Amino acid sequence: MNPTPRPMHSTPGLVIVGAGHAGSELALAARQQGWTGDILLLGDEPDLPYQRPPLSKAYLLGQTDAAALALRQPEAYATAGVRVRLGTRVRAIHRAAHTVELTDGERIPYAKLALCTGGRARPWVCEGMDPEHPPSNLLSLRTRADADALRAGLRPDSRLVVVGGGYIGLEVAASARSLGAQVTVLEAQPRLLARVAGQAMSDFVADAHRAAGVALRTGATVARVHCAGGRIVQVELADGTALPADLVVAGIGMLPNTEAARAAGLGSDQGIPVDACSVTADPDIVAAGDCTVQHVALYDRALRLESVPNALEQARSAAAWLCGQAKPNQTVPWFWSDQYDLKLQLVGLSQGHDRCIVRGQSAQRHFCLFYLQGQRLLAADAVNRPADFMLVRRALATTGGLGLDLDALGDESVPLKTALAPRP
Ligand SMILES: Cc1cc2nc3c(=O)[nH]c(=O)nc-3n(C[C@H](O)[C@H](O)[C@H](O)COP(=O)(O)OP(=O)(O)OC[C@H]3O[C@@H](n4cnc5c(N)ncnc54)[C@H](O)[C@@H]3O)c2cc1C
Repeated sequence: MNPTPRPMHSTPGLVIVGAGHAGSELALAARQQGWTGDILLLGDEPDLPYQRPPLSKAYLLGQTDAAALALRQPEAYATAGVRVRLGTRVRAIHRAAHTVELTDGERIPYAKLALCTGGRARPWVCEGMDPEHPPSNLLSLRTRADADALRAGLRPDSRLVVVGGGYIGLEVAASARSLGAQVTVLEAQPRLLARVAGQAMSDFVADAHRAAGVALRTGATVARVHCAGGRIVQVELADGTALPADLVVAGIGMLPNTEAARAAGLGSDQGIPVDACSVTADPDIVAAGDCTVQHVALYDRALRLESVPNALEQARSAAAWLCGQAKPNQTVPWFWSDQYDLKLQLVGLSQGHDRCIVRGQSAQRHFCLFYLQGQRLLAADAVNRPADFMLVRRALATTGGLGLDLDALGDESVPLKTALAPRP
């Protein structure tokens, strides 16, 4: 039997802007943790909150459909007394009046406001393109609509040029290659994943793509594109190489959606600063997910983390705080990526490491990389080793990477659990 839906309140309640991973989680978690007032979830996309990670993986491959992307069944919102308004964009926040303003001018009052506005794909413009009329075969990937357009444009033997060798670009490359497309990946840095992974991981991922038949060009910059009939037909590199193209995907990162927050004095184009309970500079406004910047105590740095786990953790902390409990999130950044038969799981931040230890055999596609700085474990990458990944994640959370038996990390005769146990 379904629980009786909660009554709707007309007094100002909790208004959540952005119906993605963070917004959906925050709405349901707030109700679960004791928020008794109205909850209104506003989202500018046409769909109920859905999972984005499959857009470049199973969904692009046609292995899952739109219904399976839904984060929750529609009834879950009604049952929890969460009103959802889709296709609705907030254009301004009036903090003094405690209202948000929609694009049609409607004003909605709030007692507490949550900003979960995520980000959008960073636009790519280059010589030969009219930014006012982007070529019809230039795509990016952030939304389900983007994934549908990409899926519709991809054919076996399509010549696909991916601009950007980060995770999203590489996942698109892997999926497109698996569908039979001819794929070239262009990366301006000397190696793939330069911003987020160590050299050994970059090399491994590059080898996997080459083995699958992807043409990789690192240190490659695009000089211009040549268009005909409103479509890119050729991508010309700075070294003069001409790459014929049927489809071009730009995967050059994202821009946080912070315009309304910035205009209200709550952040910058880098993100909305929040504390460990997800509270902004305004105690009546919380924020969670890709649109935020937080101080990550483990690395003593302010970071914008773009990952589902972070969006969920921040949303739960925000919900707790709104319900009168302080449950600061103890962020250990982590992320996963699926490419071909590779399950990559990354925990921590490897920047600044001075040593990398390998456990297992990269040739067998079953190994971990541990990044160390002096006597401290900073981060690890696991390839097809989910159990090891879980152990490292827990160890980083509980020890901060200190006091471990680092020399045993590469020795498979010592169980990883033992190597990661704090030394007495
Ligand atoms: C293709 C792809 C693959 C990914 N793969 C992985 C992965 O493997 N692992 C992983 O951890 N992460 C992955 N990510 C990242 C992950 O999806 C994001 O970190 C996560 O979606 C962040 O959730 P969010 O709620 O902060 O933002 P979003 O999911 O972006 O949701 C924000 C929502 O707010 C809406 N919005 C914005 N402004 C307004 C406004 N003014 N009014 C109303 N609505 C507004 C947006 O349209 C959007 O619907 C991937 C992302 C993409 C695009």
